[in-house]
Amino acid sequence: MMAPSHVIFGLATYQGICSFYGYQPEWWYFICAGIGSLLPDIDHPKSQVGRMIPTLSKFMAQTFGHRGFTHSLMAVVIFMWIMFQTSSLALGATAAFCLGYLSHIWADFHSKSGVPLLWPARIKVRSPILVYTTNGPGEYLLTLGLIGILAYVWVY
Ligand SMILES: [Zn+2]
Repeated sequence: MMAPSHVIFGLATYQGICSFYGYQPEWWYFICAGIGSLLPDIDHPKSQVGRMIPTLSKFMAQTFGHRGFTHSLMAVVIFMWIMFQTSSLALGATAAFCLGYLSHIWADFHSKSGVPLLWPARIKVRSPILVYTTNGPGEYLLTLGLIGILAYVWVY
């Protein structure tokens, strides 16, 4: 999934979870969710976040490869632990970062390439249903649908 799609998917995931629990987040928590949704691709130097932090991105790419450690359940747990231990942000903002990160893994899990959920095992797994090709028509259709849903929820 491309960066704009990850952001939309992250925002939609965060909005969906907030709506489900009847939680009214601060508007800027959505920015946290959007940033969190981009972070796993730090392992790709040409990704949106990789270009912002090139030194760390090149290190992650050389050490783990793209869609390696940062796309695993272990990374999710470590990221959440670090965020909740060190973040000086409000609890809701920290949770938004984490949900954004998790949404990225979930979205890539549905791509044809899959993700190494059980890293360091190098086996990539993917969803048996709703699989899309990165930067393909399925991704665009999903993203457009989510934009429509978000627009409806935020306007009405
Ligand atoms: Zn990714």
